[in-house]
Amino acid sequence: MKKKQFKSESKRLLDLMINSIYTNKDIFLRELISNASDAIDKLYYESLTNKDIKVNKKDLAINISVNNDNKALIIEDNGIGMNEEELENNLGTIAKSGTLAFKEMMDKKKNIDIIGQFGVGFYSAFMVSKKIVVESKSIHSDKAYEWSSEGADGYSISESDRKENGTKITLYLKDDTEDIAYSDYISDYKIKSLVTKYSDYIRYPIIYNKETLNSMVPLWKKDKKNITDTDYNNFYSDRYYDYEAPIKVIHTSVEGMCSYKALLFIPSHTPMDYYTKEYEKGLSLYSNGVLIMDSCKELLPDYLAFVKGVVDTEDVSLNISREMLQQTKSIELISKNIDSKVRKELEDMLKNDRENYKKFFEAFGPQLKFGIYNNFGMDKDKLKDLIIFYSSKKKDYITLKEYVDNMKEGQDSIYYASGESIDKIDNMPQIEQVKDKDYEVLYLTDYIDEFAITALSEYEGKKFSNVKEEKLDLDEEAKEKTKKLNEDNKDLLGLMKDSIKVTEVRFTNKLKNHPVCLTTKGEVSLDMEKVINAMPTDQKVKAEEVLEINENHPIKDKLLDLYQNNKEELEKYTKILYSEARLIEGLQIDNPTEISNLICDIISK
Ligand code: ADP
Repeated sequence: MKKKQFKSESKRLLDLMINSIYTNKDIFLRELISNASDAIDKLYYESLTNKDIKVNKKDLAINISVNNDNKALIIEDNGIGMNEEELENNLGTIAKSGTLAFKEMMDKKKNIDIIGQFGVGFYSAFMVSKKIVVESKSIHSDKAYEWSSEGADGYSISESDRKENGTKITLYLKDDTEDIAYSDYISDYKIKSLVTKYSDYIRYPIIYNKETLNSMVPLWKKDKKNITDTDYNNFYSDRYYDYEAPIKVIHTSVEGMCSYKALLFIPSHTPMDYYTKEYEKGLSLYSNGVLIMDSCKELLPDYLAFVKGVVDTEDVSLNISREMLQQTKSIELISKNIDSKVRKELEDMLKNDRENYKKFFEAFGPQLKFGIYNNFGMDKDKLKDLIIFYSSKKKDYITLKEYVDNMKEGQDSIYYASGESIDKIDNMPQIEQVKDKDYEVLYLTDYIDEFAITALSEYEGKKFSNVKEEKLDLDEEAKEKTKKLNEDNKDLLGLMKDSIKVTEVRFTNKLKNHPVCLTTKGEVSLDMEKVINAMPTDQKVKAEEVLEINENHPIKDKLLDLYQNNKEELEKYTKILYSEARLIEGLQIDNPTEISNLICDIISK
């Protein structure tokens, strides 16, 4: 029998468990029972697809017993069991995503009291045990094995004479100390109360002294009246390894074309891997209490990928395959139903609980906006009333409906401006004219915003207008004057245009104090150019830039003068003005050395 070392990351967690800085040691039993229940699930599920495996459903159970002589607590299941390799791999390393999440929290030195919120798995048993022995026989193997460990210095595996399939875990409890009576864990009272508190919903009987301790009704099948917020929150954090309670719980029961029960959660914050390829959307699918699939992605549209939870329906057969799912009518119906239910709940939150909605939107708003332009805008009507933007007037987030309802007489567009931050947009030269008119402007700070706006193209018949677009002209009278000014100085502007790479140079009346700004013509805005060109693809785009010069600024006369008297100098000025306009937009300049030399040239004169 050879002694083996734990993998190093496991070791750290083990140290924590053994030295058990955490006060809620009770959770170890819940973890072991949950593992036992998973093991029985796996066996039962295999028996549905593999004719060689015979299972009598009513025999499936988890047994708890005690050995008073050597202060041992025993948890035994008749589930799938583990072979030698599995014992080695599963109990020698951190397997569980929850354990990993926990480890990450520890690495970040977050509050230690939240350990209990994570599924810390098998290792938690070391909080109460000085020695653990796991005897197991896999249903796929004739031999049984025994894994044993006294903690951090390693574990060993040997053959065992266990005959039955399944796993038996013996915990040799730590000796009582002044503060902690570990021997409590073999008292009737403690065992009964822990099982009913933490493991009541486990679907297999948990038997102790011939008595079944749990009700076996899963939370989603219980009557809402008998469920507390804490019940929901515990269920959520246990299952989804989240230390924060969900921002919304949706518990629903539907009878009709398709019948199902669903218990859904919207997290309060973005999961660490949410906006990565690793994140998988999906809900657990049960058929009348039996788990069919851990994560059924067909139950959720992409734009609701953040929703977690379970769906239990009798309308799908137990041995449905992944391939079949897509063609299953009831899955399609349930998914449609869930889609509208969740959106309805979000609308309610938006209406009645704005503060929480803002929190939700901060976490998952980009997902909804992505949903608007994804699939060629197919879902935009479903989502357009769920998005919010920062308003220049309200100085807070508003819906498009609220914007349109507050529009001024004569205003026919929804104005928006995009930029890196609210402050930066607020100081943008182009925004002055719209504010002067007392029109509200939506500030778009998320890179995805403009794509969503472009996909929407209008709301309640009102077009969206980018304040940074060249064609925006609000003042009719001034417009004529500017038009004439531009025509009269066609040659000057043409010359300026030729010395920088833009589509047009023109005078404008829309700036109050700033000398210049950059606007665009056509489909691609400057912000879209920035986003698209930052993407790791070969597709690069160029916005059609227009350099606009404030006709009421002294710079105009200077330019007219240079055109008459010093064309060489005019070129230099043009380049500097263009660079200024780019910098204000947060864009780079291609030739910083040339520009800084030019500036020096001019100021040293
Ligand atoms: P998790 O259960 O989240 O994976 P654990 O550390 O609790 O994390 O367990 C690690 C692995 O050990 C499990 O994934 C499972 O494969 C195996 N395991 C634990 N307990 C049992 C058991 N009673 N029967 C069969 N396999 C088990």
